[in-house]
Amino acid sequence: MFKTILVPIDMSHVLEGKATIDIAAQHANAGAKIILLNVVEDIPIWAAAEIPTALIDDSLKNAQIGLKAIANASGLKVETEVRSGHPYQTILAVAKEKLVDLIIIASHRPGLQDYFLGSTAAKVVRHASCSVMVIR
Ligand code: ADP
Repeated sequence: MFKTILVPIDMSHVLEGKATIDIAAQHANAGAKIILLNVVEDIPIWAAAEIPTALIDDSLKNAQIGLKAIANASGLKVETEVRSGHPYQTILAVAKEKLVDLIIIASHRPGLQDYFLGSTAAKVVRHASCSVMVIR
């Protein structure tokens, strides 16, 4: 059904991420590609000057290690991608670049059930040019 599925993972909510990976596995064709993506948020320009470059590099490396661990724990053959930027803009850019036909995203952070959609999820739903599945 779907050939390339993008699963954006917020590293501060790994359990939610695991649930979306399971759902991706159920919707993937034989031979379909699943890509896990974490976006390390850009540090605002006014703060960047105060933060050592090594610390910024570390956060990308840590994200790569963490995402690989999640991928291995899933037991699935998945690609991992770590980018820096604004989460929703980067999710949409990677979706275009990788010719993604389905994005599977959690609706919001746990504990915020009163809201229909979190800010990243809402923007992805509104602006994606491919299908988006929102997991609640
Ligand atoms: P909230 O606004 O309640 O924090 P979000 O809409 O930001 O909720 O988060 C919902 C989902 O968006 C996450 O479960 C994840 O799929 C995706 N997401 C949010 N931030 C990131 C990020 N930095 N990298 C990758 N995916 C993210």
